[in-house]
Amino acid sequence: MAQLTVDIGGRPGLDCRGFCTYCYFKHAQEVPPFGCRYCLPFTKGCEYCTRSVQERYTGFKDLKEVAGDTLANLQLLSGDLTRITISGGGDPSCYPEFTDLIELLASLEAPLHIGYTSGKGFDDPAIADFLISSGLTEISFTVFAADPELRRRYMHDPTPETSLEIIKRLAGAIDVYAALVILPGINDGVVLTNTIRWLEDVGAKGVILMRFANTTVQGLILNNAPIIEQQRTQTVEEFADLVRQTKAITTMRISGTPLCDPDLGSPFAILEEPELQELLPRIHRRAAIITGTVAEPAIRAILTKKGDNTEVIPVQKEIADLITIEDLKALDLSLLPSTIVIPGRAFVHLAEAEEVLSADGKMRTVLRGPEMLTADGETSMGMDRDSVLALEMAGFSSLINLINQYGEE
Ligand code: SF4
Repeated sequence: MAQLTVDIGGRPGLDCRGFCTYCYFKHAQEVPPFGCRYCLPFTKGCEYCTRSVQERYTGFKDLKEVAGDTLANLQLLSGDLTRITISGGGDPSCYPEFTDLIELLASLEAPLHIGYTSGKGFDDPAIADFLISSGLTEISFTVFAADPELRRRYMHDPTPETSLEIIKRLAGAIDVYAALVILPGINDGVVLTNTIRWLEDVGAKGVILMRFANTTVQGLILNNAPIIEQQRTQTVEEFADLVRQTKAITTMRISGTPLCDPDLGSPFAILEEPELQELLPRIHRRAAIITGTVAEPAIRAILTKKGDNTEVIPVQKEIADLITIEDLKALDLSLLPSTIVIPGRAFVHLAEAEEVLSADGKMRTVLRGPEMLTADGETSMGMDRDSVLALEMAGFSSLINLINQYGEE
């Protein structure tokens, strides 16, 4: 099974016909490399945490470059091509040579997938028929609301009726996942109910609700908070309630990020599976697990059942994957043992973390934990409960093995 990702480049907002009101990249500052899981041990900063994460592209790549990259990547693959995914920093619908790109990829005769589009660049409903006949099988489409005026106003979509017609045609033929960033007071309440009904009527497969973040604690790490002055935001729990209420009015798959997936009971579906928790190894060494405030209660609940040697310490950041060195600097070092595990995907360079967490003169070892302990709403959307549980079992087993291998005696 071979999958190909086709990166078309582009800059969020700038290659999207202007920024959506709520875009997380709005006001983004150029920040120094964060450090991450891909960095070399002695070098803070790699391609991923310097450019990719910050979507620092110069613009869309031209078609020749995309074709060249695609050909080169194809040669590295072995086995039958099972899926081609178009992705980039800019919006594929705004790619200047979009139809040529699709024709080129269609010639590879594998199912096509558009990882994300707002549709703001599509001005003719016939593009939907062209995409279907070119082998598009799945698309994630930002909807915001089924009310064209709200799309026009908040997404700056110049042709919102056309975009909605395209969603309708696509949803009647292929898998359409709708993404909705929820701005409380704007597209929740009755507007959300109407949008969900409309999506169900047109045949969308699922909806991902995304909580709007407006502060650094909520996850804006590009020095760009607030995105919208004075905009009300929801707590994580308020948002999870909204996701559950939305699920109650539809048969479509509904998931939310950062919480929750009501159909699967995730994140941390394992909390409801005591027999699976029994199968996890016991903890017999000591370490502190650093995480975000959303995951902390679940991780603590599971690890305390496996031994009383671990401390689960939340930083002032809701999402563990978005922890940066600044969050570690704020920790009270007197509480920390000599082995610390940070989230696998944290934007932190290990050498710097060790320096910061040993600043009181006590040398501490910092380890990177497993990449995932559970599936967030975006990941779980395409999964079933057994796969989520398998992922969680693998994540917790490797976390505990790490503690038992490197923790304090
Ligand atoms: S389409 Fe997406 S990336 Fe582009 S401005 Fe809107 S939210 Fe940002």
